[in-house]
Amino acid sequence: MADAQGVMVFLETADNKLTGISLELLGAAHKLAKELNQSVSAALVGSGVKGLAAEAIAFGADKVFTVDDANLANYVSDAFAGVAERLVKQVAPAIVLLGQTAIGRDLAPRLAFRLGVGLSTDCIDLAIDPQTKNLLQTRPVYGGNARAVFATNTRPQMATVRQKAMSSIERDASRKGETVTVDAGLNPSTLRIKFIKKVKEEVTGVKLEDADVVISGGRGIGGAEGFKQLEELAKILHGAIGATRSACDNNWVPTTTQVGLTGKIVAPTLYIAVALSGASQHMAGCSGSKTIVAINKDPEANIFKEAQFGIVGDYKQIIPALTKKVKELVG
Ligand code: FAD
Repeated sequence: MADAQGVMVFLETADNKLTGISLELLGAAHKLAKELNQSVSAALVGSGVKGLAAEAIAFGADKVFTVDDANLANYVSDAFAGVAERLVKQVAPAIVLLGQTAIGRDLAPRLAFRLGVGLSTDCIDLAIDPQTKNLLQTRPVYGGNARAVFATNTRPQMATVRQKAMSSIERDASRKGETVTVDAGLNPSTLRIKFIKKVKEEVTGVKLEDADVVISGGRGIGGAEGFKQLEELAKILHGAIGATRSACDNNWVPTTTQVGLTGKIVAPTLYIAVALSGASQHMAGCSGSKTIVAINKDPEANIFKEAQFGIVGDYKQIIPALTKKVKELVG
């Protein structure tokens, strides 16, 4: 793609809305395109998604390519990869961005392979090199202990972006853009993967990835009972419960609460880390939090190096006192 131009993002939808990461991708693309003096295109692929094109424009897209087909109602790798490949070849962008989500993690490498280009996954920063105009792709390496910046010579330059690492732009319903309808060109009989059923994760209260406050417990919590104390505080703060792998492996909390390298990535405003040591694999999932508060009985625990505020002591005494005070403060 010698004449590759512009930034293209792959949007995701849920409950008939663009997801948070989609808005963040549009925000990132808007910033990069401005630096390149080029435009933002968005791929809106699914079933019944056409109506969301205006929303994508309001959040920064200049051109939206909608592929609306009943066979695309649920994500299936081969159907989406085929559509994505055709779209990228048609649009010929210089940069392609996807979310570091379940879909993005599956789709991006397939698409990169089909296009014969490189891919940086889980990027936490994107910038344009002022000299070469290449996309500089920053991602954590060595289990979150270091950051590396990558650039690729192939076009399009492809990256998946970590959730909450980028900011969306303010919604502007008066923004003007173009919508292009593209035929899916799918022959269902040639698809090798069949969608069977979707099992929705049961969430009571706030979803961990979306929570503004996360209270995570580690091995030092000592059992499922201890997590009940954290839940009480989380409820008052409208927060969600997270956990380390040790706590999940012990079945004190569901594995869906695991935060870290092999768990979920969160970036809340407030992350309260309780009775966990702050291993790099755990921090890989929460280091993007705005403020980290650590509660640990060991003053030498690594988590105190990562936290902005720390309380040294037994959580069994600190959490009830903190809960009482927070209750008073929030009424
Ligand atoms: P510990 O390291 O044992 O820490 C317990 C802490 O609790 C200690 O600091 C102790 O001082 C404190 N404590 C004990 N009692 C109390 C008390 N009463 N009050 C206050 N403080 C107390 N881990 C993850 O979390 N997420 C991941 O995604 C993840 N992925 C991994 C992937 C790989 C490939 C590998 C090798 C490991 C991974 N791990 C992950 C595991 C990780 O390396 C650590 O082993 C784990 O995070 C440690 O959990 P912890 O902090 O709960 O336990």
